[in-house]
Amino acid sequence: MSFELLRTLCSTPGIPGREEAFREVVKQELSPISDESLRTDSMGNLFAMRKGGSSNARKIMLAAHMDEIGFVVRFISKEGFIYVHPLGGFDPRVLVAQRVKVYTSSGVLDGVFGIKPTHFTTAEERNKVVPLSEMFIDIGLSAEEVKGKVKIGNPVTMERDLIQMGHFYTGKTLDDRVGVYVMLEAFKRFKSSSDDIYAVATVQEEIGVRGARTATFGLVPDFGIALDITIAADIPGVDERDHCVKMGAGVGIKVLDSLSVSHSGMVDFLCYLAEKYSIPYQLEVLPSGGTDAGAMQASRAGMPVCTLSIPCRYTHSVAESVHKTDIESTIRLLIAFLEHSSEFTY
Ligand SMILES: [Zn+2]
Repeated sequence: MSFELLRTLCSTPGIPGREEAFREVVKQELSPISDESLRTDSMGNLFAMRKGGSSNARKIMLAAHMDEIGFVVRFISKEGFIYVHPLGGFDPRVLVAQRVKVYTSSGVLDGVFGIKPTHFTTAEERNKVVPLSEMFIDIGLSAEEVKGKVKIGNPVTMERDLIQMGHFYTGKTLDDRVGVYVMLEAFKRFKSSSDDIYAVATVQEEIGVRGARTATFGLVPDFGIALDITIAADIPGVDERDHCVKMGAGVGIKVLDSLSVSHSGMVDFLCYLAEKYSIPYQLEVLPSGGTDAGAMQASRAGMPVCTLSIPCRYTHSVAESVHKTDIESTIRLLIAFLEHSSEFTY
C-alpha cells in the first residue's frame, strides 16, 4: 500500500469537467504498463490497456472516476465575497468554516467558507442550516484584488490533507480517488488475463455518470466493473439494518444501487473467487446512489456489470474515511477476477 500515492491522488484537484491535472497524475502511473499508447477521448476519459492472452479475447472495462465533488465561482459581491455553484451532492452542513482552494489563471488561492459569529446569531439561526446559495467564501483579499484575480467559472475545491487515523485513511475526495488507486494497483499487479483489460479513468461521474456513458459507447466492452466507494453507515444513530456495509469487513460486492442492478452471475462469480482466495467480502444493497456501472450497463445493447465497493464513512465531506484492509481486499478480488476472467461466461 502506497500512502504517498493515495495522498497525491486525494490532493490533486479535479472537479467535474476539469479533471486535467488529475488525469496527468493517472497517466504517469498507467503509461509504463499499458500495452497501447494511452488515449484520451473528447470528454476527457483516459484509456489504458493490457493485452489478453487468448486469440478470442473479450474486452473488460474497469472504470474509476477522476472527478471530485466541488464548485465553480458563480458570483463575486462588491465587497469581494465569492459565491459558488455546486458540482456534485454537497451537504451544506459540512461546509461551514472549512478551507477551500480557488483555482485561477494566475495561481491557486486559499479561502474559507465564512460564517456569522455565534455571538451575533439568534437561537433560531443557530438551529438552521444555511443553504449553499447563501454561503460565501472569503479569500482574505480586497474587493479589487478578488475581482482582478478570480473569474466566474473558476474551480473551487475543499481543502483537507489525507492522514492515517488508526486503521483508517481520512481526508477529502477518497470518493473516488481510492477507487482510482484500487484500479491502478490491480492493473499493475495482475499477472495475466485471457481477456483484454481496459483501465478507464472516467470524468463527470458526480454529475450523472456522464464520462462513463461516452467511454463505454466508444469502447464497446463485453462486460465491466466499476470501482467506487459505498456508504458505510455503521455509526451511532443508524440502525444496523441500514448500515449497508461495515468498515473493515471487506470489499463490497454490489448487488444493486439506484443506477444499476449487478449481473447476478457476475456477483456469484465474484463471491466464489473471494471465498476461494479467502478475501473478506460483503454483499451490498445501496438504496440511494450509483456508480459508473449504471452508465456501462445501459450502453448500446447493454452488458453485464458489477461494482466493487470500498466501504467509506462520512462520504461527500472532508472527513471521508476508509479502512486500510478493505482497500487491499478490493485490490485482491479485482486481481483474482482479471486473472480468472475466462471462467466467467454469460
Ligand atoms: Zn464516487
